[in-house]
This record gives sequence, C-alpha cells and structure tokens, in this order.
Amino acid sequence: MSLTKHLVICKKVPEAILDELASQFHVSYYPDGEELDNPEFLNRLAEAEGLLGPKKADENLLNKAPLLKIVSNISVGYNNLDIAALTKRGIMATNTPDVLTDTTADTIFAILMAAARRVAELDRFVKQGKWVKLINEELFGIDVHHKTIGIIGMGRIGEAIAKRARFGFDMNVLYYNRSRKLGAEEKYGAVYCTLDDLLKQSDFVVLMTPLTKETEGLIGLRELSLMKKSAIFINGSRGETVKEADLVEALKHGLIRGAALDVFTKEPVEPDNPLLSFDNVVTVPHIGSATKETRYKMAELAAENIRCGLEGKIPPNLINKEAL
Ligand code: NAP
Repeated sequence: MSLTKHLVICKKVPEAILDELASQFHVSYYPDGEELDNPEFLNRLAEAEGLLGPKKADENLLNKAPLLKIVSNISVGYNNLDIAALTKRGIMATNTPDVLTDTTADTIFAILMAAARRVAELDRFVKQGKWVKLINEELFGIDVHHKTIGIIGMGRIGEAIAKRARFGFDMNVLYYNRSRKLGAEEKYGAVYCTLDDLLKQSDFVVLMTPLTKETEGLIGLRELSLMKKSAIFINGSRGETVKEADLVEALKHGLIRGAALDVFTKEPVEPDNPLLSFDNVVTVPHIGSATKETRYKMAELAAENIRCGLEGKIPPNLINKEAL
C-alpha cells in the first residue's frame, strides 16, 4: 500500500470502492471520462502509475502517461485498449471477465424475446392509445421456443446464451467460432458449423464475438442476405462488428424479419441513426452488463486488478502477459 502511487480513475465507480482505493493510493477521479483537453487532467496523467476505466488507451494517451504500469478496464471487451502499444511499453492491461457473463446473456435473451414477441413495439402501441380492439395477426410475434439459434462467438457469454436457449427454450443451438468448443457441444448439444451455414439455418442469429481486426464488419449485406427472411439478428458484441449501413439496407428490403441491438458504431447512438426508425428493431443503450449487482462486481474486480498491478503482483485478469 502506498499513498505515493498515483491512480487516475476515468469512470464512475461505486463510492465504497472509490473510498477503498483512495485509502491505498493517491486517487484523481474523473467520473465522466478522460479530459485530454484539461491541463489538470494531463498533470495527473503524467504522474499516474495506474489508470482505471479509460474510454480509450492508445498511443496518444500513453504518450502523456510515462509512468503508467497498469490500465484496468471495467469491462470484458477491451477493443478500447491498444494492447500492442501497452505491451511495447511494458504496461499491464486487465479486464473483468466472468462476473458479467450471466447478466449479459440475460440481456441478450431479453432483447431477443422483445424482438420476437414485439414487446417494445407493442408497449408503445398500448401507451399511444392504439389498443382499441382485440389485436389481430398483424401484431402477432413469432415463437422462440423450439427454434434454432445460431451463436457467432461461443465464448463465456456465448455459452451462457446457449445454456438458456437449450434448457430454457428447448432450442437447437448452432455455433460458429474460430475454435471448436467441445464442452458446449457436449453440454448444450451445440452444433459447430460454418458462418454461412449458421446464417442460412438459424431463426435467431446472435453475434457475441469481441471486436478485433478480424471481426470488424463481420456481418454485412452478404451475410444478412444469407439469413432467412423470417430470422432476427441480435448484436451483443460491439457496434463495429456489423456494417450498420448494410443492416439498414437489409431491414429496408425485408431481407430479415428484424433485429435487436445493444451496441452501435457510435455510442451514445446518434438520434438520426436510421436504425432507430424501424419498428422491428429493438434498441437498448448498451445495457449488456448493466445491473446494479454486476456493475458493482465489475468495479470490484477492476479495482482488485489495479491494486495487484500497483503492488507489484500479477493481476488476476492480466490480458498481456508479454508486458511483464
Ligand atoms: P470470450 O469468452 O473471450 O469469447 C469470445 C469468443 O469469440 C471466443 O470463443 C473466441 O474464440 C471467439 N472469437 C474471437 N474472434 C473470433 C473470430 N474472428 N471468429 C470467430 N470467433 C471468434 O469473451 P466473452 O466474455 O464471451 O465476451 C465476448 C464479447 O462480448 C466481449 O469481447 C465484448 O465485446 C462483448 N460484450 C458485450 C457486452 C454488452 O454490454 N453488450 C457485455 C459483455 C461483453 P476462441 O475461443 O477461439 O478465442
């Protein structure tokens, strides 16, 4: 423990966690994010050995933080971190896996169900006073149970989605991943297939890969055209894994039935994003892990990672061992 070590926090964290960190380190707190145009922030960054929850850690930021030893993300995805740049400087990077897996899988199911059963659309319908007679076929949804779900990215969250699909909804599970997941095949009867076969056969396509150079724009018009016209596309990964303009085209031309989106290329989503104009697209504001309990656990784990890093121990969720 050393109050001489400087820690910059760039995300709102629960008070108890902030207090604990402040009792151990010299903390500068920027709950609304890094302020790279603020000279005071730059002074704090210049003396920081730890950085918690930055929106972005790239060359530009790292050049302003010469003493940095560790960057701790409060999320499992770490596409906001330039891992190569961090590693080159010997700076550790950490994330918060596992603690958010079930919560995120629940969110995916919530928006999948909302899209299939038109929950958000029909909520608006009722509140707008349009429910004046018994509803008819025009407003019917589609079943989820006993259908086929295709999961792209069968990692921790992908598996938790497969579990819910198989045992909660009696669904057939297809998956595409860069490596086979024999455990998921055994536990959930998941069937490995090519991306194209998954797209052709699934009633619900769930995208759950991390955002990397390989997955950027993974789903575009070609892929959406392969989907069934009756199928629903769900994105829980990151906005950039989908070519948004292509998704708009696919929806406009009825190539798919609808979509459910937790993530967008630009967040917060721009009010004139055409995706917001479709009744058959469920949109939520990146809420995958957003429950009180889970966000607390994520902050706790991120704090533990940074504590270890600043105390010269190996953090439990080190991403870049090469930095050691
Ligand atoms: P994970 O356990 O690392 O799973 C990622 C899976 O994607 C792995 O199975 C991986 O395959 C696979 N994959 C990676 N690159 C691929 C590629 N090019 N082609 C095919 N498959 C590929 O991570 P997780 O904890 O499940 O989280 C996954 C992602 O979900 C995160 O990175 C984040 O972007 C997103 N997420 C979003 C929210 C939200 O709020 N919407 C919340 C949490 C997470 P291998 O096993 O072969 O490496």
